[in-house]
Amino acid sequence: MVLNPQSNRVPAPSADETVKPAPTLQVLSDDPASDATRGALAADPPLVPTDAMLEELARESQQLESATPQEILRWAVDRFAPKFTMATAFGPEGMTIIHMLAEIAPETPIFNLETGYQFEETLALREKVKQRYGIEVEFKYPELSVEQYEQLHGGPLYKTDPNRCCYDRKIRVLHEAARGWHAWASAIRRDQSPDRAKAPIVGWDRKFQLVKVSPLANWTKKDVWGLISKEDIPYNELHDKGYPSVGCQPCTRVVQIGEDERAGRWSGFQKTECGLHTS
Ligand code: SF4
Repeated sequence: MVLNPQSNRVPAPSADETVKPAPTLQVLSDDPASDATRGALAADPPLVPTDAMLEELARESQQLESATPQEILRWAVDRFAPKFTMATAFGPEGMTIIHMLAEIAPETPIFNLETGYQFEETLALREKVKQRYGIEVEFKYPELSVEQYEQLHGGPLYKTDPNRCCYDRKIRVLHEAARGWHAWASAIRRDQSPDRAKAPIVGWDRKFQLVKVSPLANWTKKDVWGLISKEDIPYNELHDKGYPSVGCQPCTRVVQIGEDERAGRWSGFQKTECGLHTS
């Protein structure tokens, strides 16, 4: 089977192809990179979360509580560019921030964790962003293709151990992608979950060891969709088909009326977050 060099997605096998045995694969350790090799600590120059810096961030965060998302992004770009980046899953909040960054600092590097399991509709947004804003969102891939990964584990791990699958195909990739930056933009809103309710506008991301800026922390879902509608911002067409929250295809289902908007994620498992925004 020939893998597309631009992607780690698995193409359908042709009739004369047989699936080769799994290559010898390194079993990944659960132990993430040490702090010293993570995020801003590995940047050149490194950004170290000293007490003085954390106090400064807390002060700035407080002052930015009444700022607009655009003002927050402008502050972040002034303070951290060119070591400021953004990860996006192309959700409505992420698309809103991309729209703002296109006006404020279109040169900001933006990336997506391409697990190999994303919906085609999600992947199509990369092209829509390019056409609308001229911004090329970079795909970051896990070490193993979907085919290699499922061969290693004797089948899709999302069916039996989604935590491990998310760790290997998202979190580990994100640790790698975060290395060398001082700060990144996050698309979380405080009203999305009790965990997210505690998020500062600006704070130190202990898990990934860099500054996390959340310009939409004080926005509501209505604010986000209001801007999308007003500015005709591209969004995932699955939102019009009963998917309020879109993740990987195997772990996302349509949500029924009256269900929580994240009820369609990892349905059947005691799991509501992939681990990107939890400490
Ligand atoms: S959302 Fe599902 S398919 Fe995607 S990485 Fe997590 S467990 Fe795997």
